[in-house]
Amino acid sequence: MSESPEIPNTTDEDLNPYHMAQTQFDRATGYLPHLKTGLIDFFKRPRRAITVEFPVLTEDGGVRVFTGHRVLHSRVRGPGKGGLRYHPDVTADEVRALASWMTWKCAVADVPFGGAKGGVACNPKELDEADLRHITRRYISELGDFIGPHTDIPAPDVNTNAQTMAWVYDTYDALHPGSNNLPVVTGKPLDIGGSQGREEATARGILYATQAVLDSQILPERSSLAGADVVIQGWGNVGTHVFELFREEGARIIAVGDSQGGILNKEGLDKAEIEEHRRDTGTVVGLNGTITITNEQLLELPCDILVPAALGGQIRRDNAPRISAELVVEGANGPTTPSADSILAERGIPVVPDILANAGGVVVSYFEWVQNTENEQWDLEEVHRKLHLRMTRATHDVLAKQSELQQRLPAIREALEETRSKHPVPEVPHQPVTLRSAAYVLAIERVASVALARGIWP
Ligand code: GLU
Repeated sequence: MSESPEIPNTTDEDLNPYHMAQTQFDRATGYLPHLKTGLIDFFKRPRRAITVEFPVLTEDGGVRVFTGHRVLHSRVRGPGKGGLRYHPDVTADEVRALASWMTWKCAVADVPFGGAKGGVACNPKELDEADLRHITRRYISELGDFIGPHTDIPAPDVNTNAQTMAWVYDTYDALHPGSNNLPVVTGKPLDIGGSQGREEATARGILYATQAVLDSQILPERSSLAGADVVIQGWGNVGTHVFELFREEGARIIAVGDSQGGILNKEGLDKAEIEEHRRDTGTVVGLNGTITITNEQLLELPCDILVPAALGGQIRRDNAPRISAELVVEGANGPTTPSADSILAERGIPVVPDILANAGGVVVSYFEWVQNTENEQWDLEEVHRKLHLRMTRATHDVLAKQSELQQRLPAIREALEETRSKHPVPEVPHQPVTLRSAAYVLAIERVASVALARGIWP
């Protein structure tokens, strides 16, 4: 399960994830002077947002009402796709933001899906397994035909896993007997149509994206992970697998953190020791031979690569000036605010954005969906090979878009002057062009070209 580090917001910065997503989108449209305002409006708004309030008989004998959301942002490039998260801070706006990020992520990774996301506001730490099963079944039955193998396909996200997806599948299958319903949800257990390699797919995608950016000389003095000092925030599915995969490539993981705080050992940490300590105490904090640090300190440690792999809104206007990593690779969705993006860009710290870096999860979800449709199961090597190909290609596409935009910037500015009166854009193109804006522009262009080719119905 993913952890939620609490870092106090010491400025009045707006941390609403939906506002963050809108600002990121607006920034990208600054590079697209010819994108029609109608399309901008279309892409900014979710196609459908559903909120369900449902009662659950909890194991302690009480009845509790939970609030769940499912947002379908876009189906332009294919069925909506996106995870389902269980967390006390889930809100309609957070789910709206996450759904739009899925649209752009699927387009960057070039998988034929649109974007969607779901969430239930609940605290899994205070619920037992039977409660979570009841919540999942009731939530999925409330959604009814708003999800489906060719319309909107859930997957794991924060605090949900293969077991949760098995309940999602079972509930949907009970309500829709007589067809192959396996592709209605991805991230399922291996023996219920899951794909080899899905559990570690997000982390493996992060590895491949990181290798591809290092390979492209994004850091003048580092072309591989061997010998790199790495800091990981978050000890959930993504953080733990990134630890393992980066270690295998010769990186030193010098610090990690969970919701209780962080631990540091400049000589490098040992995963088995952390896991044993966490099993005994419930946290990474306090492991023998490590220095205890706060989550704020964790993010600000000097290192080669910082991987925020917990929740959104972690790198912000207040701490961005103190981030001392050479490179930030976003394992979580939305960990960096737009203000922090600008500060890091000015300071020359590249950020590999979530919609590229953590796309490995949805790429292997796509593989799972294809396998389910064909009633096949691929072996692990095939999944790795195909994931490597897609992540490397996506990373190269984003890097190429960044140089293209950088080169065309004077022409873009000129075009903007001409079109601005007709199509006002809220943000002028930023300099330097960040990888996030490049990824957005690539994604928007891909979605726009399909939207235009399909036409607006009727
Ligand atoms: N929850 C993951 C994400 O944010 C995976 C989504 C999926 O596989 O559909 O990318």
